[in-house]
Formats: sequence, structure tokens, C-alpha cells
Amino acid sequence: MEADSANLLPLLENQWGAARLEHLRQIGRIAQQLGTPAYLVGGAVRDLFLKRDAPDLDVAVEGDTRALAEACKAQIHSTHYQFHAQFGTAILESSQGMALDLAQCRLEHYPAPAALPEVRPGNIQTDLARRDFTVNAMAIRLNPQQFGILLDPYDGQADLQAGLLRTLHSRSFLDDPTRILRGLRFATRFQMDLAPESHQQLKQALQADIFTPLSGARLWRELRYLLELEALPSALPLLSAWKLWFLLRPKPPASSTLPTLLQRGHEQIQWLQAQFPDEPLDVFIPMLILIWQDVRLSDIQHCLDRWPVPDRGRLLADLRALPGLPETLLKAKHPSQKANIWQGVSVAGILAAMAIYADNATIVDSARLYLQVQKHLPSLLNGQELQTLGLKAGPSLGKTLKLLREAQLNGEISNKENAQQWLIKQGILPPNLL
Ligand code: ATP
Ligand code: MG
Repeated sequence: MEADSANLLPLLENQWGAARLEHLRQIGRIAQQLGTPAYLVGGAVRDLFLKRDAPDLDVAVEGDTRALAEACKAQIHSTHYQFHAQFGTAILESSQGMALDLAQCRLEHYPAPAALPEVRPGNIQTDLARRDFTVNAMAIRLNPQQFGILLDPYDGQADLQAGLLRTLHSRSFLDDPTRILRGLRFATRFQMDLAPESHQQLKQALQADIFTPLSGARLWRELRYLLELEALPSALPLLSAWKLWFLLRPKPPASSTLPTLLQRGHEQIQWLQAQFPDEPLDVFIPMLILIWQDVRLSDIQHCLDRWPVPDRGRLLADLRALPGLPETLLKAKHPSQKANIWQGVSVAGILAAMAIYADNATIVDSARLYLQVQKHLPSLLNGQELQTLGLKAGPSLGKTLKLLREAQLNGEISNKENAQQWLIKQGILPPNLL
């Protein structure tokens, strides 16, 4: 296994700098004292070779993670840890804000296709053998005498150089189809291709209908990660080449402008964030852009039924509204009518519409007006005040509030006094009131 090993010290020093390296050395030393071999594994090793910054570092240990975390806390100045008993993992945080995920090496067995694996403690060999792609199945030794030695049992380094994503064995996608979507993300982020035999395995897995037994929650989680990719436009040709559109919509989209629309959607998200920093970033904007066109709602229902999306009714309302927006907004003469149309669409839906109809000034301007002004317009008279003026509580009060809001949106009223006069003129309040 170590015949092809290399010492990565120069590369590590160059890429990560002295402080991070010293921290890893300390952990390696402490692991050695406990008789627990420790390794840097997974994405961080891949990112090191790609000369990309690795945001999170995963350390695999052959022994007890909690004991190692505890010893690190005791020996390394101002280090803290959190232990997650359920997964046997620990997060180690150093004073310089460096976070490490410690996990015990595992051996995994898949009892059925697409089911969760059965997990037992293992060693570094079994831990690398359970991984998704060769480029993610490399490890770097942290123990002092061998610090910086690469373990690369599946030739991940060569695949990385060739830009190839290669599974470790022929049943990989059948065991865990989320690896297909992980692969799609890696291919998009790092401009890699599936190795030919892995592409063959992908076809076999799709023929075996492997996404059907996968739980909706696991599928949705992977789709979310995909939709959140900044490079999502580059994933679209891969969704076609890998024949995965069916996960998002009944048939592939016909439009060739989707990458542009997604880019615009991304710009809308940034605009929204600048305007409303508290509004959560939303995967529904790219999702709506990808699925709104040329689909029958009854067909897309099948996909939606699989996803545990929090507010499906809202999503369906958006999908229903989006195609007809140019026409319905054109017909709406008054500002209040336009605002009412936007009120029936979610914020994500509005931003998706701004991206989809970016060339249509009527839509974009009225959407902005709605988000910036109309949506949060404080009412001139509230229910309490209307009751003080003599109106009864109940559905008719709600109707009056709605009428007031519309009059306000249309610029007919602008303060409490003229709102009262307006209500008198409408016959809602008696004339002798003022
Ligand atoms: P990044 O975090 O940059 O997206 P990563 O490779 O670190 O990439 P993680 O999701 O953080 O990805 O997972 C860490 C490692 O765990 C991976 O590199 C891979 O080796 C392994 N892994 C994660 N999910 C799976 C899976 N479904 N099947 C097999 N191995 C997996
Ligand atoms: Mg990671």
C-alpha cells in the first residue's frame, strides 16, 4: 500500500502554512501517545492536491475519538471539543478558529441497495474502502514518525491529475445512489468527468431504478446541495449527459437559456440579500427556474411527492403563477391589483420571476416595487382602530382592512384622516363620524 507513498511535507507547508501544520502535528503526537493512528482524510487531501483551500478538515482515528478529543483539550492550549455520542464523532476547535472533525475509522456494509449502511469500527484501509471516489479515498498520516506520508490505495492522485471521478468498486452507486449526485457536484465544481467504467455503472444503476428505494429526505438533501452550487449553470449539461433530469422534473428542459436565467437568479439572490439581509438564501429560486417551464403540474407532482419540502402548497402556487405572469400583470391596471398578484407568489417565486422575465420591465419593476415597498406597507388603520370607530369584529372587518390596503396601494389614501374620510365615502363608516 505504501509502495507508492510520498511525503507531502513540502506541499503541506506551502499550502497550509506553519500554524495549521503545527496543530496537525500536535494532534498526531497526542494520538501516538494514546496508541491511536490518526489520518487526515477525504476532501482535505483532495483539495490539497488541487491547491484549493480546504474549509473543513476530517481526521480519521483508529481508536477512540472521545479520548483523543479529551487529550487534545487537556494538552493543547485553549482547545475545545464537542462530542456527538450518536455518531461517535467529535469536533475539535482550536483558539485560532481551526475546526477539525474527528471520526473513528469504519467498516461499512450495505444490507440492501440504497439503504443506510451497517457500520462497525475499522481501520484506515476499511475506512478508505467505504468512500465514494478514488480522489476522495486518500489519507495523510499524522503520527510523528510518518507525518505527511500519503496513503493512496486506489490511485486517487493519478485520477485527480487526469480529472476523473472513479468509484472504488462496481456496486458503489447501487449501494449508495447519493454518490451519483455527489459525483455530479464534484464534476461541476472541479470540472471532472466520470471514468468510463464508472459511467457504465451509472447507467446500470439507473436501469436498476436505484433512486426509487432511496429515501426522499436523502434525495432532497443532495438536490439541495446541487441547487446551492454557485457553478450550477455548469451542472446542466451534466444533468443531461448523466440522464438525471428525471430527479428534478418529468422531462429535460427544452430551453437553452437556463444557464443565463440561473445566473440572473443568482444576481437576484445577491440583490435580495443586500436589500433584506435577514431573508434566508433560498434553493427554491434555482429550483423554480429549472422546473417552471413546459411542465404539467400533475406530472411534477410525482417529483414533489418525493421531496420533504417544507411548504409544498407555496411551491405549487408559484409553479402555477409563473407561466402566466406576463399576461396577468399586463391585465392588472391598478397598483393594488399588481400587488395582489405578487402576494400570491413566494419571495423565491418573485425573484425567480425577475430572473425569468428580466427583459420585461413591467414585471421586474412591479416585482421590485412589491418587495421593497408594497409588501411591508404598514396599514393606516388597524383592526383595533376600526373597532373603536364602530366596526364590528368578524369577516367584514377583514374585508375592510383589505379595501383600505388597496386604496393605500393605489395612492387614494395616505394617512389616518383621509383613510377615515375614504371609509365614510365608501359607506363603510357613518357620515356623522367626523
Ligand atoms: P466538500 O466538503 O468540499 O464538498 P468532501 O469530499 O469533503 O467535499 P464531504 O461530504 O465533506 O465531502 O465528505 C467527506 C468525505 O467523506 C468524502 O471525501 C468522502 O470520502 C466521504 N463520503 C462522504 N459521503 C460519502 C458517501 N455517500 N459515500 C462514500 N463516501 C462518502
Ligand atoms: Mg468536506
